[in-house]
Amino acid sequence: MEKRLGVLTSGGDAPGMNAAVRAVVRTGLELGATVYAIYEGYRGMIRGGDFIRAIGWNDVGGILHRGGTVIGTARSRKFLTRDGRRQAAYNLVRQGIDRLVVIGGDGSLTGAHILRQEWPELLAELVAQGELSQEEADQHAYLSVVGIVGSIDNDMVGTDMTIGVDTALHRIVDAIDAISSTAASHQRTFVVEVMGRRCGYLALMGALASGADWVLIPESPPNLDDWEEKMCDILRKGREAGRRDSIVVVAEGAIDRKGNPISSQYVKEVLEDHLGEDVRVTVLGHVQRGGSPSAYDRILSTLLGAAAAKAAVEATPESEALLIGVEDNQIVQRPLMECVKLSHEVNEAIQRLDFQRAMELRGRAFQRSFRILRTLVRAMPHPLVPGQRRLRIAILNAGGPAPGMNSAVRAAVRLSVDKGHIPLGVHRGFQGLISGDIAELDWMSVNGWTPMGGAELGTSRTIPTGSDFYAIARNLEAYQIDAILMIGGWAGYQSVLRLYRERRNFPSFNIPMVCLPASINNNLPGARLSVGSDTALNSIVEAVDKIKQSAVASNRCFIVEVMGRYCGYLALMSALASGAERVYLHEEGVKLKDLEKDIALLVDGFRHGKRLGLMIRNERANPLYTTSFIAALFEEEGGDLFDVRQSVLGHLQQGGNPSPFDRNLATRLAARAIELLEEACIHAEEEPEAACIGLQRGETAMTPLHEIPRQLDERYQRPRKQWWLALRPIARILAQPAPGFLRAMGEELHL
Ligand code: ADP
Repeated sequence: MEKRLGVLTSGGDAPGMNAAVRAVVRTGLELGATVYAIYEGYRGMIRGGDFIRAIGWNDVGGILHRGGTVIGTARSRKFLTRDGRRQAAYNLVRQGIDRLVVIGGDGSLTGAHILRQEWPELLAELVAQGELSQEEADQHAYLSVVGIVGSIDNDMVGTDMTIGVDTALHRIVDAIDAISSTAASHQRTFVVEVMGRRCGYLALMGALASGADWVLIPESPPNLDDWEEKMCDILRKGREAGRRDSIVVVAEGAIDRKGNPISSQYVKEVLEDHLGEDVRVTVLGHVQRGGSPSAYDRILSTLLGAAAAKAAVEATPESEALLIGVEDNQIVQRPLMECVKLSHEVNEAIQRLDFQRAMELRGRAFQRSFRILRTLVRAMPHPLVPGQRRLRIAILNAGGPAPGMNSAVRAAVRLSVDKGHIPLGVHRGFQGLISGDIAELDWMSVNGWTPMGGAELGTSRTIPTGSDFYAIARNLEAYQIDAILMIGGWAGYQSVLRLYRERRNFPSFNIPMVCLPASINNNLPGARLSVGSDTALNSIVEAVDKIKQSAVASNRCFIVEVMGRYCGYLALMSALASGAERVYLHEEGVKLKDLEKDIALLVDGFRHGKRLGLMIRNERANPLYTTSFIAALFEEEGGDLFDVRQSVLGHLQQGGNPSPFDRNLATRLAARAIELLEEACIHAEEEPEAACIGLQRGETAMTPLHEIPRQLDERYQRPRKQWWLALRPIARILAQPAPGFLRAMGEELHL
């Protein structure tokens, strides 16, 4: 029997909802279902008629980049009543819909769960009232429900991230960056209020990413009765130490230990009283919800939407209501109501003033971020413990510049100074280690580095050889360096590997060394994501949005060339985020027959009303089939149907201020790196630790350096196994011109 699937967005809107709708619709159609859009959430479900309409493949074209939700969202009082839900059930059955994908917050998902539970009774009532026939009711005896969390609050258990959170963080961090620069000019203090009635995620991560000086969140109120004194004391000391601005971030639901609200106005008054200076309040409000979704939100929503549609199409009467979420970077299915219940537990814990439980439920990553923030905001390090060993830690960048390098250096410097160690900044990467361009860094020397793009320490692609090793050995001894933290890309990894291999010849190389992945290419071993790649992805996606807009009037195909060297990460992910129909990767190779197929696809598309084509090509996808070659080929073969333009994005991909994600990843990895180096120095083993760190399965994991060569494809400078290659089928399926099109052309594609 034909499967009919309804999709709705409900409750507060969130950027990324459109990407989810697009993925649900196209995946549903690809799997053979008929998909209905239910406009204006539950309100539309109750009104029925035109509010519930079949939706086609092309109806969801060109919406990936749009904020909000094109199928509308609403709050519905009527749906809270049984009568309202009976009317909703009637409208669904009338259209033959018994599968729902609901995109919304916990309220909307609870509503869907209740509808599903009541469904058999509601149908029985409708039959008894003569509104539905028994046959109709029997045909749709069960309602399958799959939920995706669309909410900028990130307050749901069962998913690490909800749709819209990353974009909201972008808005917050942009705003605080802007406020910081004006605050610094006037030596002013600002209080910034961000959304989050019951969840401090946005406030905490926003503060961490913008280098703010104090944060107030509902889950962990300040634990002193005189927290006001403490906060002012820290801000005052910061000023004395040379900071020009002070920023306090307040979550809208911030409370004190007794449960009394702490308003941003109250914080302002406290600061004015204690510091005797002008304090300004900025309430960010709805800008946090608005605007075009970030690259991450587009990709996350696409993956969640595809998985949700698949789960809904495959659901059987026995299936429970599911939540599709992301945990440790994997798309997961969880029982919907259990997640909603656990999420409510956090709120209940806060209401009971059981803050320990609230923090526990938020998870380890949240707790760790809070601890790191508390150290980073201090104006001054902890006093030294008498007799403590003070390590001298060399910190350097190497490889191409990656946005977020400065955030990593700042965190590494502050966290090591805080523990009593002495960080040494090495200028221009290994070149500086060779020439002895090395200087001590202190707490304030990295002030204000968090939001800065580029690499303040300088970086270079120099890989030491021959006599360089002697020079490095001499400098390590001269500066009495106990450990090395290299923050960089491929050239940096290669350099550290070389020092490691030369340990037998140069005893001074027998010190702990850690590589922290920072490269826009995301081609480094032992890490799912490298610092800088999220910023580059956002830069690409923004540029592609503009390129697409430039072509409104004409039939045009763009070939956009992106960086990555031999690694196709940026190409594939930007294709997923921008809806490009084709992506050329070195990992897959480019064959003439592929290009012929692509031309056939384009010709067919433009013949049937298509206006815009978009192909993304990795810069080294194929040495002969270059971007210009492909553009020329398509231009010639397109004839009068369409013209072709190429766009090589170039260095804008390496620049820009780091995204919130990159800043926070950098900080988190730097914290772990310093811990590792410290442990290794204390244990002082004969063969001291040399390792790469990176996020793996949501945790900061470590890979010993001796295992690295086996994991690498040296020739093409990328890991042998690349997790993101598994996302190719989804990108391909969602970007085809019509459901089943690629399969009809002989491609085997599995979701
Ligand atoms: P969000 O989904 O963003 O949390 P709301 O809590 O406002 O937003 O919920 C959106 C809509 O979902 C409500 O207007 C209502 O129609 C429906 N809803 C919320 N909670 C329930 C509930 N307990 N029972 C039935 N429907 C609900």
